Amino acid sequence: MAELSPVLKQATPVLAARGDGVHLYDEDERRYLDFTAGIGVTSTGHCHPRVVEAAQQQVGTLIHGQYTTVMHRPLLQLTERLGEVLPAGLDRLFYVNSGSEAVEASVRLARQATGRQNIVAFHGGFHGRTMGAGALTTSGVKTRAGIGPMMPGVVFSPFPEAYRHGCSEAEAVRFALTELDHVLATASAPADTAAFIVEPVLGEGGYIPAPPEFLAGLRERADRHGALLIVDEVQTGVGRTGRFWGIDHAGVRPDVVLTAKGLASGFPLSAMAASDELMARAWPGSQGGTYGGNAVAAAAAVATLDVVHEEGLVANAAEQGDRLAEGLRKVAAEHPVIGDVRGRGLMVGNEFTTGDGKPDTAGAARAQQAAAERGLLLLTCGPHANVVRMIPPLVVTTEQVDDAVSIWAEAVEAAMT
Ligand code: PMP
Repeated sequence: MAELSPVLKQATPVLAARGDGVHLYDEDERRYLDFTAGIGVTSTGHCHPRVVEAAQQQVGTLIHGQYTTVMHRPLLQLTERLGEVLPAGLDRLFYVNSGSEAVEASVRLARQATGRQNIVAFHGGFHGRTMGAGALTTSGVKTRAGIGPMMPGVVFSPFPEAYRHGCSEAEAVRFALTELDHVLATASAPADTAAFIVEPVLGEGGYIPAPPEFLAGLRERADRHGALLIVDEVQTGVGRTGRFWGIDHAGVRPDVVLTAKGLASGFPLSAMAASDELMARAWPGSQGGTYGGNAVAAAAAVATLDVVHEEGLVANAAEQGDRLAEGLRKVAAEHPVIGDVRGRGLMVGNEFTTGDGKPDTAGAARAQQAAAERGLLLLTCGPHANVVRMIPPLVVTTEQVDDAVSIWAEAVEAAMT
C-alpha cells in the first residue's frame, strides 16, 4: 500500500475531516482549537462562508484563466483591491502560487532591475524551500542539510536577536547594523548588492519581531547603496501582526512586498508588489507560470480582503494578540522554562529554555503534544524547534483566546511535571 513520504513531518496526529472558523474536527468529530491556521494561512478561519461562496461561484464560472494567455475578472479585481491596501506607489502586481515562488520572483526582479547579483538575507530568515528561496533561508539546518549548494549570490548578515544574545533590543540593532556595514565592506560590495530581503517578524526562525530601528537602518542603507528593500510578508501580511502589513509597525517604505499565506484563506496564491518604475525594469516574459493568479484563488482572495475589511480583522488581530500575549506571559511567569514570550498581533512565540540558558527542544515538544491532547493545536519554530508558536485565524474571539491560554497553562504544567 502506498504511503506518504517520511520526508513530511506531521506536527500533530490529527486527521482533519473538516474545518469551521477557529476549529478543526477529526473523523470522530473531536474538536480542536486550531492555533496553527495551516501555518498562518486560514486568516478568515476555516471555510468562511463568504470565501466558500466566492470560490464555489468561481468554480462554476471559470476555474483556470491562465494569465499569460487570457485575463480574467477575479485577478483584475484582486489587483485593484490590493492596490488599496499596499504601501503607496507599490501598485504593480505579479502573481504566483506560493511564498517560495514570490521570493524567487523578487530575486529575479531585483537582479534584472539593478544589474547586480547579490541578495543579502538575515540569519534565521525563512523564505522558502525552492533552490533560490531555500538559499536565502537559515531558520534551521533541516532545510539545508545534505542538500548541497543552492542559488549562488547570497550573503548573510545577523538579525537583531536580543533574547538569544542576552542584550537590549537597542544593542541588538546596533550590532546587526554594524555587521551589515561590515558585510557590505567585506563580502558583498554595494556595487554587487541587488537587495536586502527581510521578514518584519522572523517567522520560522523563532517569532522575533524586527525592531523598527533595524528596518529603518536597512532602508537607509538600501537608499545609500542603490539596493532594493524586499519585505517578505508571506507570514506577516494581511493583518496577521495587527497592522495590515508587518512593515507598517516600522513606518518604513519597502521597494518590494511579497504576500501569500493569509491572502486567499487557504487557496494557493502569492503576490509580488513593486512600483511601476521598478517592474518596468524587468524583462517582459521573464516571469510567469501556468497556475499563477488562478481564478478561483483570486476570487477567494477578493472575498478574504472583503472579510478582513468588513469584520475588522486587523484590529481584532491587534486586540486578541495583546490578550493572548498577556495570558501567555502569566503562564510563563509560573514556568521559568518559558524564558520569553514575544510577537506581534496574532503571531506569538513561547521560547523554552533550560535552566542553564540552552534551548529546551524536548520541553517545547512535550508542551505542544500535551496541548494537542487537550484539544489545542500548536506548532513550533526556531532553529532548535524550542519556540511554541500561536497563530490562530484572525477571526479568533476573546473566549477562544482565553480557552487557548487555559489549555496552554494545563499543558505546560503537565509537560513539566
Ligand atoms: N516566506 C515566509 C516568511 C514564510 O513564512 C514562508 C512559509 N512558511 C515562505 C516564505 C514560503 O512559503 P511557501 O511554503 O508557500 O513556499
